[in-house]
Amino acid sequence: MLLAEERELIVEFGRKLLASQLTTGSGGNLSIFNRKENLVAIKPTGVDYHLMKPEDVVVLTPEGEKVDGALKPSSETRFHLALLKHRPDINAVVHTHQVYATTIACMNWELPAVHYLVGFSGNKVPLAKYATFGTQELSDNIIAAIGKYNACLMSNHGIVTVGQSIQSAFNTAEELELVSRLYYQTKCIGEPVILGDDEMKIICEKFKTYGQQ
Ligand SMILES: [Zn+2]
Repeated sequence: MLLAEERELIVEFGRKLLASQLTTGSGGNLSIFNRKENLVAIKPTGVDYHLMKPEDVVVLTPEGEKVDGALKPSSETRFHLALLKHRPDINAVVHTHQVYATTIACMNWELPAVHYLVGFSGNKVPLAKYATFGTQELSDNIIAAIGKYNACLMSNHGIVTVGQSIQSAFNTAEELELVSRLYYQTKCIGEPVILGDDEMKIICEKFKTYGQQ
């Protein structure tokens, strides 16, 4: 099976999205780019993560041509491929409608540094302008907004995170859900204190060597 390892990871992390309550049913989508093989493994559209098997995961060229898999690829294939092409430093993309991050996105706000864990993205999480799901316009808006950040809120839609591995893109989605919740809750009781760019620069530097190396 082509990209066997990547296809297993898509199934594994899809189930992790459900277990972490970052998505429900068949919502959200994930992709992994094997740059050596020059092929992308991406979630098939509309398949429940509990029922998904590695062979259901679709394998595409970076241009979007199907190489393997009987099912249709994710409805958001366009922006997955655009991100993997645009950012040579990343190999994986995670997209969810996780509730707290999407709440902030529905306000059309960026997520500021209300907690240092926003450093999983950078000094903030930028916001992409709204466009209909699955469109080229949505893909263009995400590319315009994300820059060098590891995440981007999508107006009235959700969030997308990127990483060197599917594990890191998943971790970023999980941590940013906590930061989004903190931002929402602090806004409920007053005006949160936002960490300055100088402090976030230190945090982002520390994150490069954080955890097990
Ligand atoms: Zn979506």
